[in-house]
Amino acid sequence: MKPSICPRCGQPSDEGLCERCLLQSTEIMSCPPQVEITVCSVCGSVSREGHWQAEDVTLEDLINEALHREVRVHADLKKPVLSVDLSSRGDTIYVAEVTVRGLFKGIEAEDSCQVRVKILRHSCDRCSRIAGKYFEGLVQVRGSDRIPEKAELEMAREMALSMADSTFKRGDTFAFIQEIKDVRGGVDIIVGSTTLGRQIAKALQQRFGGRLLESRKLVGCKDGRDVYRTTFLVRLPRLCRGDVIWARGDIWEVVGFDVKRTYLNSLRTGARSTLSDDDAEQAEILGSRDGAKSSVVVARDDKVVEILDPQSFETVAAIRPLHHDPEPGQEVLVLKTDRGYVLLR
Ligand SMILES: [Zn+2]
Ligand SMILES: [Zn+2]
Repeated sequence: MKPSICPRCGQPSDEGLCERCLLQSTEIMSCPPQVEITVCSVCGSVSREGHWQAEDVTLEDLINEALHREVRVHADLKKPVLSVDLSSRGDTIYVAEVTVRGLFKGIEAEDSCQVRVKILRHSCDRCSRIAGKYFEGLVQVRGSDRIPEKAELEMAREMALSMADSTFKRGDTFAFIQEIKDVRGGVDIIVGSTTLGRQIAKALQQRFGGRLLESRKLVGCKDGRDVYRTTFLVRLPRLCRGDVIWARGDIWEVVGFDVKRTYLNSLRTGARSTLSDDDAEQAEILGSRDGAKSSVVVARDDKVVEILDPQSFETVAAIRPLHHDPEPGQEVLVLKTDRGYVLLR
């Protein structure tokens, strides 16, 4: 068998063109003339195949990613390494000098091309809705027979904001808060998605207790579908966490809520108990943990501990708590009530 030679250059070759001539006649990289990248001009979200995604990436990262996706490298080029040299031609146009290096049938090969990169700046679905004052839900925070405390409303506001943030990060695009409005008797939280509204309302009820009423009404029609707007009315209960109350012949601190009950700790024995909604409405409010002051134990006997009145510094008797038994000299938290001095933990 006679050795074959390359028909183009005459060098020895196993079969047909030699590797070098083969490389010369092969396009090892093919580039599109232009790639487009769509980002939100407001929040920087990225549109990928028509879907907006909030991402923490730089424009350069996005361009690199698009080029790696769109530039085709010949399958016979082994260990290909793509490098990109980017130069800006204004705000929305870049020119990318793309170079690929690798091994083509054992020979080092290199090729380069120029790709125009066009940045399209639009407003993403979320930002469009925010700008368009769109909302699906309204969370109304009100009291039942009282105006909610400033601290409660402040906490409601903080909870709503942080839930909107975390729900958005978990993928609910329309989990945004359109507005938080102070209104007579409470606060209105206007939200982009019904789901977020329901989450906030439930969390508020879990935190503060009270009743939750959900109602929705038809507000129109969009793309052939009925559009509803849902109102979540959260009525905060009469009692707040930290309230010190008189009920069933004992003194209690309100320590929490669930949908139906108020949770209590006895300030006399440390026992835990619950109140129904109706009982909670009847309970006598003696004060609140917020009003307690620090004092010091002077002496104690079977029934009472003697403490210093936090204001007058006179020695007075407080109900002796059975579950924690402060020693003389120990600092304690004391609340002066119509039913005597009460020690808090
Ligand atoms: Zn050849
Ligand atoms: Zn956006």
